[in-house]
Amino acid sequence: MNDEAADCDVEMEYESGCDDDIEEEDSINCDGNIDFSNMTLEDCLRFYALSTNQTHSAINLLLEILSSNLQRSLPKSARTLLKTRRSNNDITNIPGGQLWYHGPLVDELKDILVNGIMINSVRIFIRLRAIIADSPARAYIKGCAYFNGIHGCMKCTCEGEYNNVSNTVVFKSINAQIRTDKGFRDGEYPEHVKLASPLLDLPSFNIITDVITSDALHLFYLGVMKRLLLGWRDGKLGKFCKWSADVCNAVSSRLEGIALPSEIHRRFRRLDELNNWKGTEFASFLHYAGIVVLKKVLPIEAYDHFLMLFCAVTILSSVEYKPNWPVAGKMLETFILQYGEIYGEQYLTSNIHNLQH
Ligand SMILES: [Zn+2]
Repeated sequence: MNDEAADCDVEMEYESGCDDDIEEEDSINCDGNIDFSNMTLEDCLRFYALSTNQTHSAINLLLEILSSNLQRSLPKSARTLLKTRRSNNDITNIPGGQLWYHGPLVDELKDILVNGIMINSVRIFIRLRAIIADSPARAYIKGCAYFNGIHGCMKCTCEGEYNNVSNTVVFKSINAQIRTDKGFRDGEYPEHVKLASPLLDLPSFNIITDVITSDALHLFYLGVMKRLLLGWRDGKLGKFCKWSADVCNAVSSRLEGIALPSEIHRRFRRLDELNNWKGTEFASFLHYAGIVVLKKVLPIEAYDHFLMLFCAVTILSSVEYKPNWPVAGKMLETFILQYGEIYGEQYLTSNIHNLQH
């Protein structure tokens, strides 16, 4: 075969209905020229509509204009053109929201992972690098226990304990035995694996390492950083009193007065808007503002504990520091252990536990 070959990584992303936000622009990885002359008009319109995120009303208008001026029939509406499903039969309720099942994903993936896809006579080989999903969707597609179950950790065999104070399952230990793809397939985790996942049919797929639990947005920013800030502000984090109105005002004023680097477009909002902060605001707080703003606001042991997280995240944020990543891993383990000591074991939720993974 004389086709040129190219590699392309694919990340699959599912959301189960949470309002998490990541402010990244859509990226189009394939910048090859499209040969529209080999495509039907419907396919061209479909490509145009999807690649430029046209609204249905804009597509409807375009279809009407084209239909009026071309001597041929076209789909009457965007819904028909895009083959949008009318029924909700493929929507499944799962904890935390709903999951929309788009179709035979595994069958299609198996085909393109083995055969690649042809674009402009070029065969593009695809490699599935990771599946990224939030906690409920992750458990659903893997057919395993949910994150708040006793056997809910997807990465290790640490057993959670039900905590009567917080009414949640907490995970106190670190360094439990790591789960393996072989163990998952061989039935070594009967209390963790509930159903046979179709994902197991994917070629060269590691169901433990290729379904990640630790993306920075959900783990660090909307996870531990949001939890800490809400806990400090509202006094819902162990023995620490809630911040007084004066402290909240002082912290808010400091945040509003910070000149952020030019690549960060969103300025900080005040603490009373914490529930509406975006992932990028929590990220900026963790990466830049926190170590300054929190000094002399937090008790020294809590401040030093926060510094441990800040240092670990800073080291992990760049490949420049890769030789020190094992040190950052140890710091996160220490952070987890001290989290229980400083704030209380009842707050050692799966999100805190996952920092080690
Ligand atoms: Zn674990």
